[in-house]
Amino acid sequence: MDSAVMFEETCSFNGEANEKQRSTSRKRREKKVEGKDAKCELVGFDSLPEYLKDNEFILNHYRSEWPMKETVLSIFSMHNETLNIWTHLIGFFIFLALTISAIFMLSNENFLGSPNFATLHFGYNIGYTITLPLTNLYNIAQVANVSSTTTMGPQLGRSPITRWPFFAFLLGAMVCLLTSSLCHLLMCHSEKCAYKMLRLDYTGIATLIVTSFYPVVYYPFMCDPLICTLYISFITVFGLATVLVSLVPAFQAVEFRPFRALLFVCMAVSGLVPITHKVIAMGHRPEAIITARYESLMGLFYGLGVVIYVARVPERWMPGKFDVVGHSHQLFHVLVIAGAHTHYLAGLEYLKWRDTEGCYA
Ligand SMILES: [Zn+2]
Repeated sequence: MDSAVMFEETCSFNGEANEKQRSTSRKRREKKVEGKDAKCELVGFDSLPEYLKDNEFILNHYRSEWPMKETVLSIFSMHNETLNIWTHLIGFFIFLALTISAIFMLSNENFLGSPNFATLHFGYNIGYTITLPLTNLYNIAQVANVSSTTTMGPQLGRSPITRWPFFAFLLGAMVCLLTSSLCHLLMCHSEKCAYKMLRLDYTGIATLIVTSFYPVVYYPFMCDPLICTLYISFITVFGLATVLVSLVPAFQAVEFRPFRALLFVCMAVSGLVPITHKVIAMGHRPEAIITARYESLMGLFYGLGVVIYVARVPERWMPGKFDVVGHSHQLFHVLVIAGAHTHYLAGLEYLKWRDTEGCYA
């Protein structure tokens, strides 16, 4: 059997193929054999295999069990996952750019008595200034000291504080956004592929949640190593356990779905503990309040995203009208990026705080 015939068979409609569909498929096969382009069809919700049925309010424009090559190339065509793929892929590149610029801005070596200190220091300010329009948009930042060079970087003679918690978060955000994008692109290929992609997606989400904790926990509590270690150990173990539970086949049964979701929600909500701790213990510090405001805003973005995701609005109100543009999952993705970016801004506040003062004791 030639590959063209196989291609057409995997690209044809699912479910009960009626005579009309069979005839259409035959004609397309003939076209392919003749060397002309044949395209995989987009199908309706009712034609999907069970494992691809997720949102009954999105009626059309589904890819279903396409060959891998066509599935990958579908990143450049319009269907109901196109914007899900691209929102997080663009988000990935945004965070990649933020990471690269942060590497240059925050390099420990460069800050330590480098002859280029002044230049780099300026760069640090520039990088921070770039974030200001968003900060102002959120209307929560206190920007009065932004123009003051002396408050923006480490004092001369002081070692810059550890950067790994900040970069771990940036890495976690990139992992989550990239795995999510891949999952949306490839899941429709086959049941086996969907199974693997969903596990990858769970791992990405857990990675983002865990790494988001690191700056939140490390920088406020760095002067109290015991508390700092306890918080970091707790969330790391919790995250690993959640990933393991997500990967174990025994836990994939439908009846465990609420349990798996609950694990992720508990992991995210447990962030309230160190944030509340910080506000109670360090509420007299403006930095503690500013970062807590960022974290509240981040929680608002993520929370709103989850509510929209679960409620499946707006497509619930007008099924079929938001199949390609505007459905809940796309809004959820945008809110995730907004939440992660808010967290990035909080990270800069932490670095500014601790680079300037270290442990004030
Ligand atoms: Zn998604």
